Amino acid sequence: MKCPHCTIAFHENWQDDHILRNRQVTGWMYKTALCPSCRELIIRIVPPSGILNSILLHPQGTNRGPIPPEVPANIAGDYIEACNALPISPKASAALARRCLQNILRAHGYKDRDLSKEIDQLLNEKDASKAIPSTLRVTVDGIRNFGNFSAHPITDTTTLQIIDVEPHEAEWCLEILEEMFDHFYVKPAQAAARKAALDAKLKAAGKPSSK
Ligand SMILES: [Zn+2]
Repeated sequence: MKCPHCTIAFHENWQDDHILRNRQVTGWMYKTALCPSCRELIIRIVPPSGILNSILLHPQGTNRGPIPPEVPANIAGDYIEACNALPISPKASAALARRCLQNILRAHGYKDRDLSKEIDQLLNEKDASKAIPSTLRVTVDGIRNFGNFSAHPITDTTTLQIIDVEPHEAEWCLEILEEMFDHFYVKPAQAAARKAALDAKLKAAGKPSSK
């Protein structure tokens, strides 16, 4: 898991304890984990109904690390909202994450009648310079399996449709977005900066700029 304080990944070391009232168990539990990197405590409350509905008590909200400055404000805004919603409502978080994903795809020319078709377009990209890395292909393709997604087309009118998802699926949506940010915004900006630096050197040497 990723530490919700410092975002560094660590091996899960949860300890479960009962919440008592008048020294009697209530059915409620709390789970604590200690991050070996930042030494902060992570606390979840687990209702009697089970682990899938556990609530992150501390820290409030999930710190998933800074958003790269190359990501446009509207897309970053949906992503932050999706992060903040995750501990309270994984379904709402996933809906926001899907909208964020759709906005990224549409900004890069992958537009169709619903998100599932737009993901198809992305996976079928013929231009090798635009194609996404193979690891990202698998995860983006997998997003369609969450909550029987393909049976609920995400169109312009249903873009924030609420679909049943598991908390780990909602978290996975956020991880996909982070990889998308890297591919669509950070890497191209780095490549452009490298080209500009190279061109400046070539110009200084009196040579034509690079292709
Ligand atoms: Zn930490």
